[in-house]
Parts: sequence; structure tokens; C-alpha cells
Amino acid sequence: MPTIPDSKPYRIGRSKTGLGLFATKPIKKGAKIIRYIGPMLDCRKEEDDAVENKYLFQINKRWTIDGSVRENIARYINHSCKPNAESDVSARKRKVVIRAVKNIAPGDEINYDYGTEYFKEYLKPIGCKCDACEHKRAKQRAAARAERQAAKANGKTVKAKTGKAKTKATKTKATEAKKAKAAKTNAKTAKPATKAKRAVSGKGRPAHAA
Ligand SMILES: [Zn+2]
Repeated sequence: MPTIPDSKPYRIGRSKTGLGLFATKPIKKGAKIIRYIGPMLDCRKEEDDAVENKYLFQINKRWTIDGSVRENIARYINHSCKPNAESDVSARKRKVVIRAVKNIAPGDEINYDYGTEYFKEYLKPIGCKCDACEHKRAKQRAAARAERQAAKANGKTVKAKTGKAKTKATKTKATEAKKAKAAKTNAKTAKPATKAKRAVSGKGRPAHAA
């Protein structure tokens, strides 16, 4: 693993999905955290356009940073749908800086939003593992559970309401089954679909990468 000077406010550590970048000092909202660095790829050059990895950060239609290099510590930053940092892109300078959008406390994992293109291509098929999405799923499960329990309880006490409650519960169940099926289908088709898309366009480049 690359060594990081003590003066920096972050370290590489274990996260839910592998490795991640964590604050070691308080980072103020708006402060620059780290630059996203790597060789500049020019999509007009065939050899550059052929480069494919998960750390490509697209700056504009022409230029992309290949962030897969060892020196690029920013590549350890994971995606979040509700992040505490953002990527600040200066297309003119071809420079990308990761900046805090909230006050970040020591120990917090640093995250930014990778953008819709990356999300659709890499995260949606397997289900986003960020805190916001996991929290949302847990809430949905709890709500479905509560609804089923309410329907059960209503069935015993209030007769008039039973029909409604039952219908709702059944609906939730049906939706869940549908979702499960969709997830299964996604898991099966995810790889070929991604490959096909990338092969056809050659431009299916993620906005950036984890
Ligand atoms: Zn998410």
C-alpha cells in the first residue's frame, strides 16, 4: 500500500466493500482533501481510448484521467449516494480535486458521488452498498414488516379494515417478489450487458471509479 505522510488528514483503511479512505483529522466543509491524479488520456488517440479500468475519471468529451496508478491515493475513495465530499473538476486545467462538502470528523470514511454513468454501469446491477442505500433498504424492509404485522393485527380486531390491510400487504409482497426476480435477472445479465455496451460505443466510460 502506498505510504501517506502524517501531515495528510487521511489514511487508507478497511471499508465495507474493501479498502477506503478515512479521515485522520477534522476536515472542514469546503476544504480540498486530495487531488485525483494520473496520466491524461486523449480519447482522440486510439491507444488512449482503448484503456479500460475502473479508475477512469472523465473530465470532458476529450480528456480522461487514468487514476489506476499507484500514486493516485484518491482512487481509494469509495462512492456514496449521500457523500461528504465531491469531485471538483476544472476542465480547463484538466484538474480534479476532491473537496469536503460537510465537516468530516476523524474516523469518518471519505466518499463522493461517482455520477450516474458509473452508478448505472457498475453499482446498480449489484446493488449500491453505500450507507444511504443500505439504510434505505433496511427502512423498506422494516416498513414492509410493520405493514404485514398491522394487517395481521387488524384482521383479528377490526373486520372492516381487514380487506384493505390485506390488499396492501399482498401488494408489498408481490412487489418484493418482483424486485427479487429483477435482482436475479440483473445478476445474470449484468456482465454481458456491460460488456456489450462498452464494446459497441467504446465510450461507456464511467465518470470515475472506485
Ligand atoms: Zn448508494
